[in-house]
Amino acid sequence: MDVSHILDGLNDAQRDAVSGEEQAALILAGAGSGKTRVLVHRIAWLMQVEGVSPYGILAVTFTNKAAGEMRERVQAMLQTPVSGMWIGTFHGIAHRLLRMHSKELGLPDAFQVLDSDDQFRMIKRLLKAMNIDDARWPPRQVQWFINAQKDEGRRAKHLAAGADPFEQKMIEIYTEYEVICQRSGLVDFAELLLRAHELIRDNVAVLEHYQQRFKHVLVDEFQDTNTIQYAWLRLLTQEAENLYVVGDDDQSIYGWRGAKIENIHRFQKDYPKHKLVKLEQNYRSTSTILNAANAVITHNDSRMGKELWTDGEDGELISLYAGFNDQDEARFVVDRIQHWAEQGNLRAEAAILYRSNAQSRLFEEYLMMSGIPYRVYGGQRFFERLEIKNALAYMQLATHLENDAAFERIVNTPTRGIGTRTVELVRERARAQGISLWQAANALCEGVELSGRAVNALSGFIKLMRDISGNLKSAVLFEQVNQVISQSGLIEFHKKEKGEKGEARVENLEELVNAARQFVYGAAGEEELSELDSFLAHAALEAGDTQGDKFEDCVQLMTLHSAKGLEFPLVFMTGVEEGLFPSQRSVDGIGRLEEERRLCYVGITRAMQQLYITYAESRRLHGQESYPMPSRFIREIPAELIQEVRLNARVSRPVTAEQPIGFRDESDAGFRVGQRVMHTKFGEGMVLNHEGRGAQARVQVNFDAVGSKWLMLAYAKLETM
Ligand code: ATP
Ligand code: MG
Repeated sequence: MDVSHILDGLNDAQRDAVSGEEQAALILAGAGSGKTRVLVHRIAWLMQVEGVSPYGILAVTFTNKAAGEMRERVQAMLQTPVSGMWIGTFHGIAHRLLRMHSKELGLPDAFQVLDSDDQFRMIKRLLKAMNIDDARWPPRQVQWFINAQKDEGRRAKHLAAGADPFEQKMIEIYTEYEVICQRSGLVDFAELLLRAHELIRDNVAVLEHYQQRFKHVLVDEFQDTNTIQYAWLRLLTQEAENLYVVGDDDQSIYGWRGAKIENIHRFQKDYPKHKLVKLEQNYRSTSTILNAANAVITHNDSRMGKELWTDGEDGELISLYAGFNDQDEARFVVDRIQHWAEQGNLRAEAAILYRSNAQSRLFEEYLMMSGIPYRVYGGQRFFERLEIKNALAYMQLATHLENDAAFERIVNTPTRGIGTRTVELVRERARAQGISLWQAANALCEGVELSGRAVNALSGFIKLMRDISGNLKSAVLFEQVNQVISQSGLIEFHKKEKGEKGEARVENLEELVNAARQFVYGAAGEEELSELDSFLAHAALEAGDTQGDKFEDCVQLMTLHSAKGLEFPLVFMTGVEEGLFPSQRSVDGIGRLEEERRLCYVGITRAMQQLYITYAESRRLHGQESYPMPSRFIREIPAELIQEVRLNARVSRPVTAEQPIGFRDESDAGFRVGQRVMHTKFGEGMVLNHEGRGAQARVQVNFDAVGSKWLMLAYAKLETM
C-alpha cells in the first residue's frame, strides 16, 4: 500500500511519532511544533496502514471546533468520509456516554445539561431554601467548591466533615445540591465527567465493551487534563496501554480549574512501555516571535525543559504600543487592522487577544465604528444570552417536565401574573415533599392554599406547557423550535421592550430558529439522541458557534485562554499591564504567576508573522480609573526584539472615558464629529473621529458607499455639507 502521503510534510521526529509501533506515546513539545498535526496524521496512519476501523478510534481535543477540523483533515487525507469515529471534547464525549447509559447510571432518559450560569442560579436558590447566609457562603464559592470536588472525583458522601464549620456547611450544601440535580434530571459540566468515570469504574461490562471497542485513544492538549479526566482515560486504556497523548507543559493554563500538569509525569509511570518523542522545530512563527516566547518562558522555574528552534526568517520586530488610555489602545489596534486589510490581507487572519472578556467591548465599539466585521469567541455567547436561554428553557421543560432549573426560569417569563409568593409556595411544597416544581405546581392547583387568581395563573402556565409539550411530538426540528418560541409568547414580550435591546432579542430568537435549521443532526454520530435533545445538548455544550456568519471575513476576538491551539498571521496581545496580565490575584501566589506566564507564552506563540503588544497608560476597569504599569512580561522579552511604535501624529485630543465618541468638540480644521462631508472620490459620509494638528491632522469619515476611512486633511479636500 502506498502510505507515503501520510508521512508527507512531516519531519523525521514527526514521522517517527506518527508511525511508531508502540501503542502508548507521549509527544512532548513546544508551541507550533506540529503536535496537533502529528495527531491528525497518526489517526490517518492507524486507519490506512494499520487497518484500524474508525469505530476503534477515540480522539479527544480541546474544543468542538478543533474536533471538527480534525475530522475534516483526516477525511481529506484518506479521501473518504469517516463515520463512526468518536472525536470530541471530554465533555462532549462524556455527555454521549451518559445518554447511551442513562439506565446504568440511574439518570432519567431526558436528563439535561446544566451550564455554569444555570448552576450558579440554582445554587443561589438552594442557599435561600436552606436558609444559609450567602454572605458567609457566597454562591460563587459554593459553586467553586462543588466543582472542585467533582473534578477530583469526590461526591458529598466521600467527604468527611472535619471540625471546620465552614467546610461542614459546604458539604451539607453539596449533599443537598446532589439531591436536587438528581431529582430534576440535571447534570452540570463537572458531573458529566464524574458520571462518565463512575460509569466505567462501576460497570465491568461497560468498561470491557469500550476497552474492546477503542483500540486507540488519542488526546490533544494533554497538559490541561484534570484528575477525573485522567482517571477516565486510565481506566479505558490500562489493559492495552493504548493511550497516545500530545502536550506541552509550558502551555498548561487551566490549573485554576483543576488541570494537573503532573498528569504528564503520571502518564510516564503508568505507561512504562510508551514511546517518548520530542519535537523541537517550530513551523509557525518567525524567529523573532519564537525567541521572544522562549525568553519569557525561561523565567518559570518549574519546567520540564524543551528546546524550540525555527529555520524561518527573522521577520519583523515585535511592535509595542503604549496607549494613552484604553480607548486609544483600541483605536490603535483597529487602525492597524484596517491597514492590514487595505494591503489585501484577510481580516480573519488578524486576532485580538485579551486577558478578560470585559476587554472586548472597546475593541468591538471601534471595529463597529469602522465598519469592520468581527467575531467574538466566548464572552456573551449566543446560547448564553438571556432570551435564548429562556427559549431553550421552554424546550427543556417541554421535553422534561421535572427540570426545576428550566421551570424556575420561565414560570413567569413572559410575565403571566404568577407572583413571587405563588412561586415561593411551589418551592416550599416541592421541598417538603421531595418532588419537582412541576409536580408541586400541579398539586397546588388542585388544593386550597392558593387564591383563585393564583390558581388561574398557575394552571394557565401548566396548560401552556402541556400544549407545547404535546406539539413537540410532530414536526421537524426547526419547526419545533419555531413553534415553541411562538407559543411561549417570548417574541411579543421582547417586542414590547423599548429600543434596540428588544429588537436585538427578537432577532436573536429568530436566529435560534436559523440555528436549528442549520443544525446537522448526527454530525458527531450521536444517533442515540432525539434530534431536539441533541440540539439542546449542542446549545449547552457548544455555545458561540452560530455567532456571526461562518463564511464572512471577520477579525477574530478572543481571550488568551480560548486562543490555545490556534494560529494567526497577525496577533495583537492587548492590555499587557500589571494587575491585568498578570492578573492581580496571580501576582500574590508564585504558582499562579507561573501559570500566567505560560498564558503569555501561549499568546505570543499564536502569532505567525507579526505580533503587536499593547498596553494602556490609564484604563477604566470596573468603573474606576487606574494607571497600570506595563506588564513584567514585556520586560522579559529581550529589548532587541522589540520596536516601540510612536505615532508621528500624536493624539492631540485623546478620547477620554468621560467624553464618549460623538460629543467631542471641533477639530482644528473645523470638522465636527457627526458632520456630513463630501469627498470627490468616496462621495458623502459622516465624520466619526479626528486627531492631530496642522499638517498631521486626520479625520475618520464613514462614507455611505465605501465605509470608514482615515484621511489626512492636508490631502483629502473634504467639503462640508
Ligand atoms: P500548539 O502547541 O500551539 O497547539 P502544535 O504543536 O499543535 O501547536 P500545530 O498546530 O500542529 O502545532 O502546527 C503548527 C503549524 O506548523 C501549523 O501551521 C502546521 O501546519 C505547521 N507544521 C507542523 N509541522 C510541519 C512540517 N513538518 N512542515 C511544515 N509545516 C508544519
Ligand atoms: Mg496544537
